Amino acid sequence: MKVPFLDLISMHQEIMDETLSAMERVVRQSAFILGSDVEAFESDFAAYSEAKYAVGVDNGLSALQLILLAYDLEPGDEVLIPANTFIATAAAAVFGGFKPVFVDVVPNTYLMDPDKMEAALTPRTRAIMPVHLYGCPADMDPIMAFANKHNLVVVEDASQAHGARYKGKRVGSIGHAAGFSLYPGKNLGAYGDAGVLTTNDENVVKKVKAMRNCGQIQKYDHSYHPYNHRLDTIQAAILQPKLRKLDGWNDMRRQVAGWYIENLQGSGVVLPQTPSHLEQVWHLFVIQTDKRDEMRNYLGENGIGTAIHYPVPVHLSPIYKHMGYKVGDFPITEAEAHRLLSLPMFPHMTREQVDYVCDTVIAFENQHSLVNA
Ligand SMILES: *Cc1c(COP(=O)(O)O)cnc(C)c1O
Repeated sequence: MKVPFLDLISMHQEIMDETLSAMERVVRQSAFILGSDVEAFESDFAAYSEAKYAVGVDNGLSALQLILLAYDLEPGDEVLIPANTFIATAAAAVFGGFKPVFVDVVPNTYLMDPDKMEAALTPRTRAIMPVHLYGCPADMDPIMAFANKHNLVVVEDASQAHGARYKGKRVGSIGHAAGFSLYPGKNLGAYGDAGVLTTNDENVVKKVKAMRNCGQIQKYDHSYHPYNHRLDTIQAAILQPKLRKLDGWNDMRRQVAGWYIENLQGSGVVLPQTPSHLEQVWHLFVIQTDKRDEMRNYLGENGIGTAIHYPVPVHLSPIYKHMGYKVGDFPITEAEAHRLLSLPMFPHMTREQVDYVCDTVIAFENQHSLVNA
């Protein structure tokens, strides 16, 4: 049996007719920049996220960057960011001229440790960007309390968690604003690059709408940073029918995760945590194991696709060397980076596929424990 790491085709087959007619509608009108399809997707996504407003942009990185700019951070202002995340979270701060300051994660949760924020605080700290990593919401109550106490802006990086809930609240409705990537492989993915941000703050909406469109509110009135970060109209048209499928597909992911947890209980690998106050959306199914690289090879030899999120922590990336971080600064993130393995996870994954992956993981674990005995 072959199990791919990700299968987008089954999802797209389900909505092929709506997708093609949405594309055809845009092409027949030949109005490709902003317009009613972008507005319709924005209002659908705001309602879905239980936020007042949504603004469509060209990718997740610029969603985060535009939010920080809209809150008037100054060059050199500091943004607290979990050490375990995709590099784009930190890049959003760097591109705005701000300084990412990393914070280690809680062991086995992969999420920013709110108890470690105090030590990272300086007089220049202006914002926190918690990341809802792998589909699991960050611990927002203590993060919001800390932000209120120190007058910080909270920007959720919800790129991996469209539809997840923290104590009943949708991600994207908890902080001051949230950025979502709509990269094809995300839980809600476009057919190319796209992104969206949510907020209850009208002022952020006004500024971001200007900045994404050459800084203009009126044509040729360039009162804001003149960027081009518009969401493509054709993507906005396709995303509308896709958004209507998201809750169902997230439910299917939950079922897949349930099968994994049932099968792998007691197998020796570290399983993801599932606290009851969180409604996760399982963007990824991440385990930890001592012999990660060997297990990954073994799964590959048996036709199973896997990935590592992320093999090199952001603070140790060559491009951020000048920031002066070194090995040992964030021991939990660094130790887990050698142990993490993302198993196949997608809505249409079958019970047979999950059973095959788990049997293969368990076979590897058994061989390995025999060698050690
Ligand atoms: C995908 C992702 C991004 C960036 O999204 P793009 O749309 O590729 O720019 C940012 N943060 C996290 C956590 C992501 O997973």
